[in-house]
Order: sequence, then C-alpha cells, then structure tokens
Amino acid sequence: MRLIIATSNPNKLQEIQEIYTPLYKDSLQIMAFSSLVKPFEIQENGTTFQENALLKSKAIFQTLKTKNLLSQKDIILSDDSGICVEALQGAPGIYSARYSGGDDKANLKKLLLEVANLPTKTSQAYYCAAIGISSFYGDFSVHGFMYGKVIATPKGSNGFGYDSMFIPQGFKKTLGELSNQQKNTISHRYIALMRANYILRALLFC
Ligand code: IMP
Repeated sequence: MRLIIATSNPNKLQEIQEIYTPLYKDSLQIMAFSSLVKPFEIQENGTTFQENALLKSKAIFQTLKTKNLLSQKDIILSDDSGICVEALQGAPGIYSARYSGGDDKANLKKLLLEVANLPTKTSQAYYCAAIGISSFYGDFSVHGFMYGKVIATPKGSNGFGYDSMFIPQGFKKTLGELSNQQKNTISHRYIALMRANYILRALLFC
C-alpha cells in the first residue's frame, strides 16, 4: 500500500518517514505527492488546523484520482501544524508558516522578538499537528499536541521552524538541542501519527 504524503515541507516529510518507517517496514511505501504530480498551490483558508489538513489531503486525493494516478488502496496523508503561544493569545497558530510573510527563519525571528517583548520573556505554549487522511474509503483526521514553553533566546540547531525556542514540558533543553529521535518520541506530530495509525491499520484491511 502507498502512503502519499501531501506536503512540500521536507522537514515534515522526513519526520513522518522517520516515525512510520520502523513501524510499517515493507507494508507501506511512503512517498511525497510531488513524486507523482507537479506541486501546486492549495488554498489553506480553513479556520482550524483540522480544516486545513483536510483541505490538503482532499485536494491531493482529488487531483491524483482525476489523473488516474491512484489505486484503490492508496492513502493520502497531510499535516497542518503550528505553534500557539499563550501570552500572545494563541498566535501564530494556524498562521505559523505565514507569520512574518517570509521564510521559516524570518518567522522564528518575529516570534523571538514578540516573546522578548513580553514582561516575562517567556510563555506557556504548545505545538499542534492535525493529520488529514483521504482515501477511497473516506476522509479522517486526528490531532496531536506537545506542551511546553517558549523562550526569547534560540538554542540549538536541530529540527526546524520554531524548535530552537521551544522547551517541551519535563525537559531543560529546546527541541533545537534535542536529537531527532528524542523529538520524534514526544512531538505533536509523533502523537498525531500514532493516533492516525488506528485509521491506517483499518484501511490496510479494507
Ligand atoms: P503548515 O505547513 O501550514 O502546516 O505550517 C507549519 C508551520 O508550523 C511550519 O512552517 C513551522 O513554522 C511550524 N511548525 C509546525 N511543526 C513544527 C515543528 O515540529 N517544529 C517547528 N516548527 C513547526
């Protein structure tokens, strides 16, 4: 069975592969949708992570189906995710990828500045990942969350996006200082993908 990942973000693709490959070994072929069609713009105009995740998985499913590139067992999996900072009323939230209007580096810089401007210079925060699944048997979604806090001085260079300013609950280091393996056993994406497993296993038996 093919699990076609509806993302153009190489960091997300890598994490999904790192988390699922040991679990599924040869029973699932994990691939990027861009290996089947030329990437195209998907309007992420939902108001929640879940809506945006399903917009992505459904759009890729329809496109591949229309082009006759899907077989009955294929599954499309998308990820819509971001960071929500309590002292900033949940910002950047669903706008995490577009926070500054620039790239990941510019987004990080903007959030670091916002946190530095807080009287406390830190805030409770959480990451959210919504996973969308589209298949010939229907559309599904699950969420995963990782709680912790954000700081105003970045530390470490692992991970991507806002990882160098996020300290997970129970840790003293930022995600930027933790290894991929450590992040991949506690992250919002890991938790959401573990929940998505129940759906994928059911679809495997359809
Ligand atoms: P999306 O592609 O619209 O889902 O936006 C995801 C954005 O949220 C990324 O560009 C990052 O800025 C942020 N983000 C999501 N997950 C992570 C993560 O695991 N680490 C760091 N940043 C993340």
